[in-house]
Amino acid sequence: MLTMANLTIGNAKTELIHAARQLHASGVLFKGEHANLSARIDDDRVVITKGGSIATLDEDSFVVVTLQGEPEGDIDSVTAEIVQMHTAVYRARATVGSIMHVHAPHATAFAVANQAIPIAYEPLVRFGFTEAIPVVPWAPRGSEASVGGIVRIVEEHPGLSAVLLANHGVLAFTSSPVQTARLLATLDEAAELVLHARLLGGEKALPEQAFEQVKHHMEQFGSKVMA
Ligand SMILES: [Zn+2]
Repeated sequence: MLTMANLTIGNAKTELIHAARQLHASGVLFKGEHANLSARIDDDRVVITKGGSIATLDEDSFVVVTLQGEPEGDIDSVTAEIVQMHTAVYRARATVGSIMHVHAPHATAFAVANQAIPIAYEPLVRFGFTEAIPVVPWAPRGSEASVGGIVRIVEEHPGLSAVLLANHGVLAFTSSPVQTARLLATLDEAAELVLHARLLGGEKALPEQAFEQVKHHMEQFGSKVMA
C-alpha cells in the first residue's frame, strides 16, 4: 500500500530537477556529476533520469519506466543497466517515493574501503537510522547480483534508507526527492566527520538509548522521521 501521494509526471520531473540542484549545492556529486535519480508517479511507474550525468537536467532528461523495469520511451544503454537498481527497491518497499544514486565523495570513500558508515552523528539519527549504513557486496552496477544484494538488505532492515555499494557509491531511498537529497547531504557530512574524527582518536558511539531519546524528542514537537 502506498503511503505517499502520487506525483504527476510533470511534478515528479520538477521535483527531481530541484533535487539535482540541491545535490549539486551540497557537494554530494563527485567530479563527474554522475548520478541517477528517480521518483514514483503511481503504483506501477516511476520517472528516472536517462543520462549518466545530472549536471544539466530539463524535462527531456527523463524516461518513464514500469516497476518491472520496462521503459515507456527511448532509453540509453547506460541507464538501462541501472533501471532495476531503482525499480527493485520500489517493489521491495512500498513507502519509497524517490531513489538517488550518487558517488558522494566521503560516503563513497567508505564504499571503496568496504566499510559501513557508523551512526555517530546525531542528524543521521533523525532520518531513522539505528545501525551503521551497510555495504552491499560488489557486483557490476545494476547486475542481478548487485540488485539482489541491495534488495536483501532493504528487506532485512526496514528502518534503513541508504546503502553503500561496495567499490562504487551510495544508494538512498526515502519518501520524496527533497528528502532523499537531504539524506544524501547528511550522510556525506556524517562520513566526512567520521573521517576527521579518526584523526582525533576516532568517533565515539552514541549512547545506546540515544535512538529512542531522539525519536521521543522529535515526537514531542510533532516532527516526523525525515526519511
Ligand atoms: Zn554509479
